[in-house]
Amino acid sequence: EDVINKIAAGEVVERPASVLKELIENSIDADADRIEIRIERGGKRLIEVKDNGRGIHPDDILEAVRRFSTSKIYTIDDLFSVSSYGFRGEALSSISSVSRFYLISRHKDFTLGKELLIEGGEFRHFSDVGAHQGTTVRVRDLFFNLPVRERFLKTEKTELKHTTDVFIRYALYHTDISFRFSADGKVQYVLSPEETESRIKRLFPAVKELIYFESEDKVGRCYGYISPDYATGRGYIYVNGRPVKNKSLMRVIRSKVGNNFFTLFLELPPYFVDHNIHPAKIEVKFRKERSVYQLVKKSLENLQKPTIVS
Ligand code: ADP
Ligand code: MG
Repeated sequence: EDVINKIAAGEVVERPASVLKELIENSIDADADRIEIRIERGGKRLIEVKDNGRGIHPDDILEAVRRFSTSKIYTIDDLFSVSSYGFRGEALSSISSVSRFYLISRHKDFTLGKELLIEGGEFRHFSDVGAHQGTTVRVRDLFFNLPVRERFLKTEKTELKHTTDVFIRYALYHTDISFRFSADGKVQYVLSPEETESRIKRLFPAVKELIYFESEDKVGRCYGYISPDYATGRGYIYVNGRPVKNKSLMRVIRSKVGNNFFTLFLELPPYFVDHNIHPAKIEVKFRKERSVYQLVKKSLENLQKPTIVS
């Protein structure tokens, strides 16, 4: 089982940024409205995510770190209409098999929490503990037991860039959540609930103006913002609330907005979207691509007057 877990872990856990992605998604799925992230050495030494969500029921904690155990899917139908991020139940088991993994959680209906330590897939500690409501996960020494994978990691600077980018992707969309993000003891972002425009401005202080665009047809809805004065080639695409990547959609957007910063939100019927090309990747495929691109193009031709964001 150890070997199987390690192989499976490779699917989900590629680098510190993929760990951060899974942990942030779990916190959002738990309805947290405060998420605090700490990164050390690009995430090679530490990735910590602390939330004030509903917490894990004490009877479910051991189950949560087991492979293919998820509390989020109940029937086959759910698979096609998942509104939560998680549904495969392999993130925590994978992460805990390739790191020193510490979890502390207090469920909302309990006065006492539980803490758990797993090192390279081996149980070390499990006990009651006093804790705030919510969950904290600390992932230390990623790949300490897989030296080959560890050697494949890039420099701390590059890994930090990737983890920061993951944070930005979720913070941009979840504007009703308070976030704090620090790296090597330095606080990089402190965000309170706010409108999308001001969230963009906080995450990208160089953005001065934003142009809103929107369109809706029988396929779905597409809306977002373009910054006319910030042209760094950065752009963020979301489909039904998930950050995604799709090269040909990106090409369609770039043909309209050039190199300018943008965020674009697509709302489509779930069966238009295939998220599962690869469990850990955020690439998506669209069914009926052409009508999706049509919707996107139309929205980008429907620009409002620029507003200056403060
Ligand atoms: P998935 O998210 O696909 O269900 P994970 O391995 O990411 O699988 O998590 C396993 C389970 O642990 C989740 O289904 C959830 O019940 C629980 N869990 C994990 N993280 C949290 C959290 N931050 N708050 C509450 N529950 C959590
Ligand atoms: Mg998950």
